[in-house]
Amino acid sequence: KTPVLEIKNFHVDYGLGDEAVQAVRDVTLTLHRGEVLGLAGESGSGKSTLAYGVTRLLPPPGVISGGAVVYHPPSGDPYDVMALTDAELRKFRWAETSIVFQGAMNSLNPVHKVSTQMLDVIKAHEPDLSAPARTARAQEMLKLVGISADRMDAYPHQLSGGMRQRVMIGMALVLEPQVVIMDEPTTALDVVMQRQILAQLVELRERLGFSVLFITHDLSLLVEFSDRIAIMYGGRIVEEARSADLYRDSLHPYSEGLLRSFPALRGERRELSGIPGSPPDLRGMPTGCSFHPRCPQAFDRCSVDIPVLEVARNAPDRSVACWLPGRTA
Ligand code: ATP
Ligand code: SF4
Ligand code: MG
Repeated sequence: KTPVLEIKNFHVDYGLGDEAVQAVRDVTLTLHRGEVLGLAGESGSGKSTLAYGVTRLLPPPGVISGGAVVYHPPSGDPYDVMALTDAELRKFRWAETSIVFQGAMNSLNPVHKVSTQMLDVIKAHEPDLSAPARTARAQEMLKLVGISADRMDAYPHQLSGGMRQRVMIGMALVLEPQVVIMDEPTTALDVVMQRQILAQLVELRERLGFSVLFITHDLSLLVEFSDRIAIMYGGRIVEEARSADLYRDSLHPYSEGLLRSFPALRGERRELSGIPGSPPDLRGMPTGCSFHPRCPQAFDRCSVDIPVLEVARNAPDRSVACWLPGRTA
């Protein structure tokens, strides 16, 4: 397994000084070449903040307050995305790593045809490509994401939500980036559509060979489609494992609660109701393990010391942040 994007000790705050709240805390996470990595966690756990932070698209008052994001290009030396200049960053986005935002389907420009918008992306990054070659590339990509030739000259409002989302995926892939980050909205797309989109992404991944960081509330989708899953709580990664391992035997009580919140792999969707209580407030984070007020297995140490993400005992390819005996080496 070779890394393509290594997030290291990453921190994001909202606000400055005394006003600052920490939304992403010491996140270390590696995306490997060709894999689909799922990121799950309740609303407010910091998933989007992490995604926008690593691509440096974080809107104010978001501030990256520490860490590195090392990108490994297909050829040449790895580099830290945090150290790129604005000009380098513009090249990096779309061409090396692209992101499909939560609600991206509404970010298409309503006054331009979808084909025009895709051509603009190609033009901005590959100005030397001839106009016919650009058109061919755009058509090919739209076809790949299931937009037929007769819809190419449609305006965004003439397409369904699912089709617009597919157009956004096509734009994200058209420059053949190594990494695609997808931040799926909970409500805007129903779960059937999310499922189709993820299935399609996985299929395209086989053909084009990119890696995916897929963010969703729907853990059942991730169990089914992703290679590995990272679980986020209160701004931290609390567990990370191969999907099958996590599903069979989660090590963190929060993951266990999340898994219990959905009935079956293909069952009907339910809210994350398996865990009583609500996610922590960033302004008053619990001491120690931030999950301790809700954790059915909490004991003395949990409210005092913060557990760090460590390699699990007897399982070198998974990690967990929990003080329960026997969890880590
Ligand atoms: P969802 O599943 O609802 O999309 P999320 O896991 O993506 O949630 P984030 O949107 O990253 O969560 O938010 C993480 C935390 O940061 C939340 O507590 C949120 O209230 C806070 N936050 C997000 N944006 C801002 C902002 N602009 N100013 C202050 N706090 C913010
Ligand atoms: Fe529960 Fe303690 Fe583990 Fe936190 S560290 S998940 S409170 S047992
Ligand atoms: Mg989000």
